[in-house]
Amino acid sequence: MIGVDENMVVELISVGTEILLGNIVNTNAAYLAEQCAGLGLSCYYQDVVGDNEERLCETIRTALSRADILLLSGGLGPTQDDLTKEAAAKVMGKNLVIHEESKAALQAFFEKRGLEMTDNNWKQAMMPEGCIVLDNPNGTAPGVIMAENGKHVVLMPGPPNELIPMFESSVAPYLAGLQDSVIYSQTVKICGVGESKAETMVQDLIDAQTNPTIATYAKTGEVHLRVTARAEDEKAAKKLVKPVVKELKGRFGSHVYTTDDEVTLEKAVADLLLANKLSLVTAESCTGGMLAARMVNVPGVSDVFKGGFVTYSNKAKRRLLGIKKSLLAKYGAVSKETAREMAKGAAFVSKGDVTVGITGIAGPDGGTEEKPVGLVYIACSVLGNVTVKEYHFSGGRAKVRESTVSAALALMRECILQYYSEVTFGKQEK
Ligand code: ATP
Ligand code: MG
Repeated sequence: MIGVDENMVVELISVGTEILLGNIVNTNAAYLAEQCAGLGLSCYYQDVVGDNEERLCETIRTALSRADILLLSGGLGPTQDDLTKEAAAKVMGKNLVIHEESKAALQAFFEKRGLEMTDNNWKQAMMPEGCIVLDNPNGTAPGVIMAENGKHVVLMPGPPNELIPMFESSVAPYLAGLQDSVIYSQTVKICGVGESKAETMVQDLIDAQTNPTIATYAKTGEVHLRVTARAEDEKAAKKLVKPVVKELKGRFGSHVYTTDDEVTLEKAVADLLLANKLSLVTAESCTGGMLAARMVNVPGVSDVFKGGFVTYSNKAKRRLLGIKKSLLAKYGAVSKETAREMAKGAAFVSKGDVTVGITGIAGPDGGTEEKPVGLVYIACSVLGNVTVKEYHFSGGRAKVRESTVSAALALMRECILQYYSEVTFGKQEK
């Protein structure tokens, strides 16, 4: 057990030649690193090693010399090149012995699927003596924890759909139990404020921070401020986090769309529509349906989202949304006026309460001095009140389109909130 201020040190070891060759992206390391940070563990090294026993043993030995906890992923399968368990047991000085429960589970797994077991499958029922065996409901390779002399070595299967559930259900609670203090964090998610502005607005808090700490994460079109406290129990940690979250909410006001980890920006917008009984229709040009797709990420969004138009060509804008040829000729497809007419046209054609019109130049071609790549206009109509904004996004085509979608979500939120605050305070003029 360690003191409240000290972090245990964890090291991640990803096993697999395909990772070394770049055939697969090491998403397990990214996932585990983030989870470990959330658990208050310090991580100084991440290693990638191929399916080679000697080099794997050497990596484990080195990692053991500088970390309290090793998290290994991959190489637990039944084949010849799966050597993680063998290597880890060797370094920890453990024999592999038959584990009856795993043997039975393995047999049941194969029987259920009507599959024939091959000899090498039995390898997966061999476990280091005295270890903790972790259930793998999504595959055949159980996880393993070996603990000795204050060192903890955790072995998890490589496939993310097996590793993530195992980490969540077995490994995270184990790691939390190793520490005599708990970590609690809450994320304040904001939209409609740029990263550098957001950081400036909290710089004094960041400079003065000790416990809790504040970390800013820039996401496309949003900024997340993570407030993390360490204390002897969860109640005490929550108590430390609460006033800081309150302060952040005060500073960012209506730009805060949630303090709930599970709530995404599209979910916050969907909830706002639902709370006000508003239906949504989108009309997209340069984003080609990406805004509609983001909305459909939200389960149950059919209560508010009616549908969307993808009007990429001028002809489609005219035909589907009723935009006048003369308007397109006068202002161009990428203009404030066209965005406005797209939102109004969608409202007229579909009778949506909230409609969004998006038009812009995603690049890499098509930009001019006057209308450069990254220029985007987004219009949002709330019950006939239209707001249009001009944006200048940087980055490649994909980035411009992603930024546009996030900005559209932020604008929708802003317009809906604005509409109702004006209704409430009797200032509605339009
Ligand atoms: P299996 O029983 O499937 O062989 P395993 O534990 O032996 O599992 P590996 O053989 O190392 O794991 O990897 C199996 C698959 O898991 C890889 O082909 C890859 O799709 C995925 N995978 C492995 N390591 C990683 C990683 N670090 N990040 C993301 N995916 C990974
Ligand atoms: Mg394998």
